[in-house]
Amino acid sequence: MTIQVRPVAAAPPRPGPAARGQLLHAGTAEAYRRVVLAGVDRVARQVTAVDRPFTGIGPDALARRIDAIDLDRPLGDGTAALDELEEVWLRDAVWFHHPRYLAHLNCPVALPALLGEAVLSAVNSSLDTWDQSGGATLVERRLIDWTAGRLGLGPAADGVFTSGGSQSNLHALLLARQETCARRGAGRELLPRLRVLTSTAGHFSVRKSADLLGLAPDAVVTVDIDADRRLRPAEVRAELARRRHAGEVVMAVVATAGTTDFGSIDPLPELAEACAAERVWLHVDAAYGCGLLVSPTRRHLLAGVERADSVTVDFHKSFFQPVSSSALLVRDRRTLRHATYHADYLNPADATVPNQVDKSLQTTRRFDALKLWLTLRVMGPDAVGALFDEVLDRAAAAWALVGADPRFEVLPRSPLSTVVFRHLPAGPDATRADPANRYARRAMTASGAAMVAATVVDGRQYLKLTLLNPETTVTDVGRVLDLIAGHAEAYLEGGAR
Ligand SMILES: *Cc1c(COP(=O)(O)O)cnc(C)c1O
Repeated sequence: MTIQVRPVAAAPPRPGPAARGQLLHAGTAEAYRRVVLAGVDRVARQVTAVDRPFTGIGPDALARRIDAIDLDRPLGDGTAALDELEEVWLRDAVWFHHPRYLAHLNCPVALPALLGEAVLSAVNSSLDTWDQSGGATLVERRLIDWTAGRLGLGPAADGVFTSGGSQSNLHALLLARQETCARRGAGRELLPRLRVLTSTAGHFSVRKSADLLGLAPDAVVTVDIDADRRLRPAEVRAELARRRHAGEVVMAVVATAGTTDFGSIDPLPELAEACAAERVWLHVDAAYGCGLLVSPTRRHLLAGVERADSVTVDFHKSFFQPVSSSALLVRDRRTLRHATYHADYLNPADATVPNQVDKSLQTTRRFDALKLWLTLRVMGPDAVGALFDEVLDRAAAAWALVGADPRFEVLPRSPLSTVVFRHLPAGPDATRADPANRYARRAMTASGAAMVAATVVDGRQYLKLTLLNPETTVTDVGRVLDLIAGHAEAYLEGGAR
């Protein structure tokens, strides 16, 4: 890369009418229509054209193209910029709508949500204060109330939209920390003694949050799980008592309703019981499992969630929403005060209008709620839930397919939509299963024919399918299994390294 030193201009150039024509205003409404439609058209064509989820290109090849672009020399025109974008991204993007994209918790997106995305970014409301949002604030509040109602959190519930599950978990743990300190009349001196209990299958954002919140390095205590990868309530009760006797203070138990790898759902009623007995905050991370809230057949899997103090939901995981769309819900709206700070220029303490910044970790904040709003207004919750149900049924069929295939070993079935498995070579090659599975995934990704995820369970390399696309058929899954077996066998035969 060469660094170019440019002479400093005596005076900055004044933007002419051409530059002002790039801003949205009454005079550019036609151009706005044209520009956005051109982008929509480009994406629609790509979506129709792709025959695989990925081209398999590596970061080095793309970095060369991206680094070669001189950002100080504009193209001056949307079409040229889109052409260039196709070269550096669109053509080689990872396409979640493709039936053989089976890797992470990325869903195909609902059309009404895409409509919402286009509208919300053009209007550009900011949800921090009423005077930057108007009705958008009330739309978000209705959706928070709707979600809290579905969760059954009771009349004092409240919450706020967030950027994602990680932020929601951080926010929940901040509230738990402050409530625990407040209840004990304690301040920061309590921090080194605070503990958070969660499952070994819990999300890594819990550890990250504990660090950000100034807790001790060993503050997150992971509790053993059973064969179905669920927290054992007896272990949690024992751990709560053990920590109390040791003079430590458990500020929260984080249960997971849909672990990232296994889709396992911790036993919420028993955990709620254990938390109530010790007056410990129960946070339920339902980033993945929240789709069950609208499932016509599986809502009961979330039973007990109504007893949580706080809940994370990721609409961008299981409600077919584009990134970002997530929320934190709390049972008692008063607990949200722990994120309330006032500024004279923004949200003075004597404000008489609803200012969502009083509840949020963010200040300027997107109107992400609009995507869910339009999805519910166009499709309705039952239709969203039926799609999620279809995905869960398909995952069950995929699990049965892997289980019946002698080339593979599969872990217990998920109540949600992951399938954790590995290619298991026969005979003496069994000892090379770990590198063979790693190789198979790498080779398949490089071919772009399909994408699966990888994880490590009990020290062994496993592969993971995450199904979130109703367009994925059992035949697609069968093809992916054949591809994996083919690559793994090539590796074992020494034909590939
Ligand atoms: C994905 C996930 C998160 C993190 O959510 P982001 O939206 O990616 O920040 C948290 N918890 C669980 C269980 C998840 O699956």
